[in-house]
Formats: sequence, structure tokens, C-alpha cells
Amino acid sequence: MNNNVDVIVIGAGGGGPVIAKELAEKDIKVLLLEAGPWYGNKNWPNPNENKGGVSSTSDDDLSIELLRKQFTDLEEDMNDVITGKFRWGPANRNESPWDINTPQKGFAWQNSGIGGTTLHYFANSPRAYPEAVNGVWPISYDELIPYYEKVEATLPVSPAPSTPKEELFYYGAKKAGWNEIDTLNVREPGYRPQPAAILPPDPRINEPGFNLAENPVGCTLRGHCINGCNVGLTVEGVAKRSTLVSYIPLALKTGNVEIMPNTFVTKVLTQETPNNGLQAVGVRFRNTWTGEVGEAHSKVVIMAAGAIETPRLWLNSMLPKNPWVGKGLINHWFDCLAGIYEEEDLIRVLGVSDIKPYVGQNAAARFDYPGLGVIQIFGVSPGLYSSMLYSTSGKGYHFLSEKHYQTPWDMEGMIVGEQLKEFMRYYPRTLAVLIFTDDEVNINNGVTLDPKIKDENGFIPVVRYYPSKKDKEKRDKLAIIAADIFRKSGAKLVIRSNWPPGIFIHAQCTMRMGYVTDNNCEALQVKRLYIADNSVQFNGLGGPNPTLTTQALATRSAEKIINKYF
Ligand SMILES: Cc1cc2nc3c(=O)[nH]c(=O)nc-3n(C[C@H](O)[C@H](O)[C@H](O)COP(=O)(O)OP(=O)(O)OC[C@H]3O[C@@H](n4cnc5c(N)ncnc54)[C@H](O)[C@@H]3O)c2cc1C
Ligand code: SF4
Repeated sequence: MNNNVDVIVIGAGGGGPVIAKELAEKDIKVLLLEAGPWYGNKNWPNPNENKGGVSSTSDDDLSIELLRKQFTDLEEDMNDVITGKFRWGPANRNESPWDINTPQKGFAWQNSGIGGTTLHYFANSPRAYPEAVNGVWPISYDELIPYYEKVEATLPVSPAPSTPKEELFYYGAKKAGWNEIDTLNVREPGYRPQPAAILPPDPRINEPGFNLAENPVGCTLRGHCINGCNVGLTVEGVAKRSTLVSYIPLALKTGNVEIMPNTFVTKVLTQETPNNGLQAVGVRFRNTWTGEVGEAHSKVVIMAAGAIETPRLWLNSMLPKNPWVGKGLINHWFDCLAGIYEEEDLIRVLGVSDIKPYVGQNAAARFDYPGLGVIQIFGVSPGLYSSMLYSTSGKGYHFLSEKHYQTPWDMEGMIVGEQLKEFMRYYPRTLAVLIFTDDEVNINNGVTLDPKIKDENGFIPVVRYYPSKKDKEKRDKLAIIAADIFRKSGAKLVIRSNWPPGIFIHAQCTMRMGYVTDNNCEALQVKRLYIADNSVQFNGLGGPNPTLTTQALATRSAEKIINKYF
């Protein structure tokens, strides 16, 4: 390992690999340290069984054969939050996951590993709503556009293809009186195909005799995005563009990047200097297999450990006090609704008798509403569908809650027992949507350190989120619009889950630009320390999925770092 480089990046998730690649392309030597395992790399042929190599510096190490073996598509093997490969924990699955204290009902859904949480993300890559940025952020929306364009071209991003579930959603949205949106810069409400970081299907996919196995170029619509995608001829050609297959291979190609998985950074090292005051000079880390501790030094350190772990690392490193470190957490307070359809209605609208939620990309159509948030359809494999739609609620069991008032949905809360079995029999005829609320930044929400409980990486994070009255109103309005779209498209039964506020899927804003960092994402109190993950966003972008904006900001920050320090 080269322990004296130009830049150290902490975390290889949504943001870290982007800034690493951008810097390395300008001949800057980068060391990228990642807490979790590396799938699809020959140096770690059995990443969950033994410690394998130390680091990788070449894209020759990448292997699609290994990735195909390791990403099995099996829900439990990949997505079980305790033992799955896509969990928040060390590579050794005999060890328990790392603890995050979420005192409310809920959990933080994040992943460790090269690719981070983009391994199981749906790859939806919309831009922020301009009205959530202009006159609100310390930089303008126009300033973001060239960086959006660069990331969109690099991933690349294109409109998602339709299958019956998307067609049904568009039909309902149109009947409900909404217009189709035909711009990336969304200013009005309406529906549109998802801008997706997924390679489009081969146009010959429906031709008789087209052999998918021999032509795995682009998405094959097989619906396992959330369980990891391994469809492609090479690692860098895999359809779903997690950073594992998009930015990491590009970073390695520069010859200027060394990447170490299984390496948890436990402290940011600093030094007081006469001219600059406190500045970052390196990191201390711990190997997750052996427990060995090491240090590496650099001219610049970049924190990209995610919106929970970046503030945790700041606090565990005892960096200067700032009331906004860890605070202001946005989580897009999610909700889920399902619509169940009769065969004859589907035949009337679509010409087919079911919509098969497992066919097609996991979330290929969306409805945007600046000022309220987002409704997005999703279709995943049955175990995940039943847990997201019917087993997650802040309302308790449906059968225990008496309905005293009229609602646009027929049921609300958890569905269990015989009724769950019955509803899952309708799985092929069930359309589902997720709601992301445009929630407000509140300094009382966020990440603190547990005062007593420590793991091998330091005091564990405590994450709390309480929505405001306005947040609740916005979420309810979105649920009403979603229920109307279901009805207009012919749903016979509409069920609302009503998720509790403590589920963190789009955690953002815990190290806000303008409060913890300057406009270029450099920490106000620690020079040469930058932030390049969801935590640095100023607000919830109006509701849109956050990763593209993190990646645009990381691209911008790379330019700023080069201009200032190299
Ligand atoms: C099921 C699901 C679906 C999603 N779908 C979408 C979507 O379609 N579109 C979208 O925009 N967003 C989606 N998201 C959210 C998206 O995954 C995140 O926005 C994105 O991954 C955040 O990037 P990040 O760099 O902030 O954090 P992460 O991707 O979580 O990366 C942080 C990385 O840092 C590593 N790390 C943490 N602490 C340390 C440490 N101390 N030392 C070393 N390494 C460390 C972690 O292991 C991790 O790899 C989804 C999330 C989930 C759970
Ligand atoms: S649907 Fe998802 S898992 Fe399947 S090929 Fe497309 S991106 Fe990959």
C-alpha cells in the first residue's frame, strides 16, 4: 500500500468513486479506502470467506465470471439486512452487522462494499427540482447543470423502458389529468419515464430467436436490480450502473488509484498549522478481517462514508464542534401504496391479464411534484414486495385499526396471516408505488454518538428523525394523488402501508454545504478536508432521488480541489 498519496477518499459508495476518478484523471494519486468487501475482483475470489488480497490498482483485476457467481439474485442471500451480502457489516458474514442505533421504529438501509449503497439502489437518476436549489442553496441550479450532464454521460443515464406496470401507471396518471414531463429540469408536476443509470435493452430483445444468454448487452428486464445486477459481458458493461461497474473501472483505468476494501477508517488525522489553522493530514484505519491498524497520509482527505457514517467519523475523530455536524437529516420520509387489479380490467387497459411486477427495471416510471415530492412505481421480487408493501407500517396491524373516517385507500397498515397470503396470490396483478416526501431540514433530526455503546470502529451512531406537520401534510397529499392514479387505472383495492418515519433510505444533509462546509464542500473548520457523499447536500432536492446530485457535486468538488491544492 502506498501510505503517502495526494488524496485519500473514505468510502466507495455513491460519491467516493466519482471524486476518485475525477481526480485521478488529472494525474492525482488517490488511495480509496472502503469498509466493505469487493465483489467481482480476482484479488478477492471468495470475498465473504477469507481476507484475500490487500488492494487493487488495475482494471485487469475485474472479473465478470466472479461477479455472476457472487451476485446470485436470491433475495435472502443478497438483501437480508442481517446476513445478506448487501448488508451494513463486515465481509465475513459469520460476524454480526455493524450496529446503528435507531430508537424509533425502523432501520437504516445502507450497504458496505465497493459500490456502497448503489449496489442495491434502483439506479434512478433524476436531477433535483430547480425550485429546491435556486435561491435556497448557496450555489445556483445553473451551476449544477454541467456537472449533471457530465455524470449523466459517464454513467450513462437514459429514459427507462416500459413494461406493463409502467404502461398501467402512465395510463392512470394521464386519466387522472396529469401531463407527461419532457424535460430533465422539472418545474411542473407530471409523469415521465425514469431517468435511469441502466444500459438500455438491446433493441432486438423481442425478436424471435434472440438469445439473451449470448447477447447480454444492456438491461434484459429481468427485474433483479435491487439484488445486484450481473448482466453484461464485462464488469464495466454491467447493465445497472452502480459505482462498482461505472466509476470504479474508470478510476482504475487511470493507473493513479489504489483501492483497499475491508478497511474501516476510524479517525481523520489532523495537524495545527501556523498559516492554515487545523488541517487534515491523513487517516487511521482498521482491517475488518485481521483487526490490524494502520495509518496513511495525504495532502487532502475526502469523507464519502455516507450521511450516517461521515458525521459519525467526524465526531469519533473529535474534529471541531459545529452544531450542524450530523444534524438537519433529510430522509424523504417514504411511504408505499399498492393497487390490486382484476384480470379483465388489465386486459381492457393493457391487453394482458397481469403486470408481473418482477419483469422490467425495479422503478422505471415516476411522477414528480415540485413542492410536494415524488411518486415512483416499483416492482421487485415477491419477498421484498411483501415486506415493503404489507409488513412495514407505523400504523400497526390493519385489522386492529378501526376506520373512523373516509380515506381514498381501502386499507391502511400491516397485512398479515391469511389476508397476506391472499394478497400475495394477487402479486402478478399488484401495482406498487413508493412516495418520497420533500421534507424540511430540521436541526433536531440527525446523527449523534451513542454515549455508551462502542464497537471496534468507535462509538456507534444514533439516528433520529421526526417529521414536521408540513412534512406529514405533503406526504398525505402525495398518497392521495397516488390512490387516485390507482383508481383511474382501474384498481379494485388500494392499500396504504404508512411507513414509520425512522426508515432511512435516502439519508442526506447531515454535513450541509454552507453550514459544515463551504460552497466547494471543504470543511469550514478543517482545511484540506472535503465531503463527497449525500451528507453535503443542502436540502432534500425537493424529493428526487439523491445520488445523481451527490455525483454531480463530487465532480464539481474534484475541480475545486485541483484548482486550490494541486
Ligand atoms: C433499496 C435502495 C434503493 C435505492 N435506490 C436509489 C435510486 O434509485 N436512486 C438514488 O438516487 N438513490 C437510491 N438509493 C439511495 C442511494 O443508494 C444513496 O443515495 C447513495 O448510495 C448514497 O451515496 P453515499 O456515497 O452518500 O453513501 P453510500 O453509497 O452508502 O457509500 C458510503 C460508503 O462508505 C463506506 N464507509 C462508511 N464508513 C466508512 C469508514 N469509516 N471507512 C471506510 N469506508 C466507510 C460504506 O461501506 C459505503 O460503501 C437507494 C437506497 C436503497 C437502500
Ligand atoms: S432489470 Fe435490473 S437486474 Fe435486470 S438486467 Fe436490467 S438492470 Fe439488471
